[in-house]
Order: sequence, then structure tokens, then C-alpha cells
Amino acid sequence: MAPPLFDALIIGAGAAGLAAGAELARAGRSVLVLEARDRIGGRCWSLHEPGLPVPIELGAEFIHGRPAAMFSLLEKTGVAAVDAPFVRWTVQRGKLQPRGDDLFAEVRRALRQQGAALKKQDVSFETFLAHGPHGLSEKAQAFARMRAQGFEAADPARASARAIAEDWGGEAAADAGHFRPAGGYGALLASLAGELGGNGVELRLRTVVHTVRWKRGSVAVEGTALGKPFRATARRAIITLPLGVLQLARDAPGAVCFTPALKAKQQALEGLASGAVIKVALRFRAAFWEELDEARYRDASFFHSPEAAFPTFWTALPVRAPLLIAWAGGPKATRLSGAGTRDIIRQAVTSLKSVFGKQADIEARLEAAYVHDWQRDPFARGAYSYVTVGGAAARKALAAPLRDTLFFAGEATDDEGEAGTVAGALQSGTRAARQLINAQRNGGEIGS
Ligand SMILES: Cc1cc2nc3c(=O)[nH]c(=O)nc-3n(C[C@H](O)[C@H](O)[C@H](O)COP(=O)(O)OP(=O)(O)OC[C@H]3O[C@@H](n4cnc5c(N)ncnc54)[C@H](O)[C@@H]3O)c2cc1C
Repeated sequence: MAPPLFDALIIGAGAAGLAAGAELARAGRSVLVLEARDRIGGRCWSLHEPGLPVPIELGAEFIHGRPAAMFSLLEKTGVAAVDAPFVRWTVQRGKLQPRGDDLFAEVRRALRQQGAALKKQDVSFETFLAHGPHGLSEKAQAFARMRAQGFEAADPARASARAIAEDWGGEAAADAGHFRPAGGYGALLASLAGELGGNGVELRLRTVVHTVRWKRGSVAVEGTALGKPFRATARRAIITLPLGVLQLARDAPGAVCFTPALKAKQQALEGLASGAVIKVALRFRAAFWEELDEARYRDASFFHSPEAAFPTFWTALPVRAPLLIAWAGGPKATRLSGAGTRDIIRQAVTSLKSVFGKQADIEARLEAAYVHDWQRDPFARGAYSYVTVGGAAARKALAAPLRDTLFFAGEATDDEGEAGTVAGALQSGTRAARQLINAQRNGGEIGS
């Protein structure tokens, strides 16, 4: 018996795939969502541990600014956005100091001034910092390098200075605030997934796609579902595979093989990189830092130790929880990746000692640690994307549909200022679903 012909297949049930599925469900389309993991959410992965008042977010945690796609989902699902305070302390000359200086404002000013020149001639962010006529102080340069690595997960030697100037120089970058979805991203995405069931959208977990054969008006995918071979067909498909998966060589283990190959996407894939992050959640018996040094760090939300393997830590504030998150991005994360859980945790603890010194007796206070190596994860192959030198058009090109049949979503395809984030993934999914619906309306049922 021939398998049912769906209006659309969606590959991946992360934020992008779920948003696309919800949009198609609302439009009454028949859809099959195929997800390799045994859970939805992709790079959003919340653990709920007994006794902890906040979830442990192994992947995404914050909402940066007030992206419309995110805030409309929060509103629809009745989930609150909880303000994340921004009180920072930094290790300077071996001592923790409150960080009040606004180096970001200085960097933003310089980038705005150089924006037009970078549009004409893009260079790497490292080249820009080392040789550009930006007039930045040494301190501001070091801050900019650290932010490119830590926030953008980028290698400054590869990252596009033009793209960073556009991102950081824009109004949206300033004072937009940071939030967390109350209850964590897992609960938010579960609400979104709740819109699919019963609305013509079928979701299959533990279903790994290996090949996508396509021609105008027809897509057939093959792979393994619960360990057994499967095949599914549809008139169209939305591909939400992470950038790192799309960038794999055709014959590499874990690659998804498109036939015909996605030649039209090659240049776009070369203009982007999958950034590296290692995030470790350290759970303690008590929030010991709140008592140290006459309780002066009680309201601290971020600690920075620029030279450490993990240069950034944050607390769960405004919720008081015995949890510190260690964060390394860019080249530091690339170095840590593959080291093994035990060694990664050891390096997080050593880095934390560089913040609080020996007095804290970190090992004795540590109760548990949680880490996931996204770079080694076969269904992620990195944390989130950034633009490389000359890649200004890459996101848009990656997002462009092919022959009204293949549509592309996922954080890396967002060209509306939210790439790299959950909000970007959500809005890309909605955009791809609308493109598909329009193509269906305009083209009739091609191939039928
Ligand atoms: C450590 C970390 C911290 C982050 N912090 C933040 C943050 O604070 N705020 C923020 O906004 N963003 C953050 N991000 C980024 C954010 O998580 C991503 O941008 C977003 O979740 C990507 O969603 P997506 O749908 O594009 O991709 P994904 O979530 O990766 O979804 C793609 C799906 O495709 C599936 N898949 C892959 N291969 C196959 C296959 N062969 N067959 C079938 N299915 C397949 C995957 O399993 C996955 O579920 C963070 C990411 C990481 C890793």
C-alpha cells in the first residue's frame, strides 16, 4: 500500500519545526513532522530536577530583547517573561570588582561609524579589531572580542565584522533587556506542540531522516523510525535541520543526503558557521556566593573571569537557587568540546575558583553538574550560527525556497534580526509555513 501523501513534511521538531507545524495546522494542512530525538525542542532542552526551583536549561535559556515572535507565543500560551537582572562582577587583577563601565556603548559607537566602510569591504572581526581605524581602547577591544566569542559563539578570526556591526550597531542591541520564559523553554515549546495534535499534524519522534528525494511538487524521505526503515511522501517539505547538519559532506556519517543535491545552497552554507558553546550547570548544596565577602555578591547575576577556560558564570536570579551556569563560547568552547563530561566539569570548577578563590571550597559544596556537548551532538553539530566574512547574503539565500517544493527554516535562516536564537527559529518556521501555503495557493496542486 502506498504511504499517505501529506501536504507537507517537516524535518525537525525544534522551535522552527514546531512553529511551522502550528502555522500549517491553523491553515488546515495535513502534515507529518519527523524528529530524530526522543523528545521535541532540539536545542531547547529543559531538565526539571527535584528540589530545584528553576529548570536546568542545557540549551537555550534567555530571551534577548523583545522579539515579536517570542512575545506573541508567550502571550498565546499564557507564559510569563521573567526579567533577568544584569548585575555584573569581573575579576580584575585577581579580585572581583563590580563592573559598571559601559564598554558596549563604546564598541557600538565605533561599529556604527565603521558600518559604511565594512559594507564596502568586509573583514574578519579580529582583523577589524587589530587593524581597523576604530579608535577603541584596549579594554574595549578585549570586551568586544570576549562578546563576539561569548555571546555570538563566534571565532573572531572567521566572523564577519560587517555582520557584527549590523547586529550590535542597531537600536535593538541597546538596553533591550533579557528575560527567561517562566518554567523554561521546555514548557513553552510543549505548549506550542500542543497546538499540533488533533489538527492534522502528526509528530513522529525517534525518526531519523537519511535521504530526501525531491522534484517539483513531490518529496520522498527515507530513514529509520524506532530503528526500522521508514519512508514518507508529501508534495512539499520544510527543512529545519541545523546548519551544522546541512554543512556535513554528503558522505559524512549522519549527513542527510538530498537528491538532487542542494547546489543552490552551497554558497550560503559557506557564508555561515555553526558556533560552539559549552554550558555547564553547577548545582550546589546552597547558594554559597550569596554569603561570601560580607554578602556583597548577593544580588550579582553575572561573574566574569576573562582569562579562565569558562570566562562567564551566571546565577538564576531573580529566583534564588543554588545554581551557577558556566559558559564558554567560540574558540574556548571548541577547545573544551570532546574533552569528556568529567574533564569539562573539572575545568568549570577550576574556572569558578578563579572567580571566588580558595575560600569558596567549590568541590566540597558541589552537589551535581550537568553538561551537554552540542558540538558532538549528531543532530545539532554546534550551538547556533554566525555569519563569516563575506556572508552578508547567506541567511537570506539559505532561506530561499527551491522550486516551490523545499522550504527552509531554522535559526540560521532568519534574516529578520533574530538569527541564532529561539525567537529567530520560531519566526523562520512561521515564515517558511506561510511561503509553503502561498506556493500551494498560487501553484495549485503541482505534481498531482
Ligand atoms: C548551549 C546553548 C545555549 C543557547 N542559549 C540560547 C539563549 O539563551 N537564547 C536563545 O534565544 N537561544 C539560545 N540558543 C540557541 C537556540 O537554542 C537555537 O537557536 C534554537 O533552539 C534553534 O531552533 P531550530 O528549530 O532552528 O533548531 P533545533 O532546535 O536544532 O531543531 C532542529 C531539529 O532537527 C532535528 N534533526 C536533526 N537531524 C535530523 C535528522 N536527520 N532527522 C530528523 N530530525 C533531525 C534535531 O533533533 C532538532 O530537534 C542556545 C543554544 C545552545 C546550544
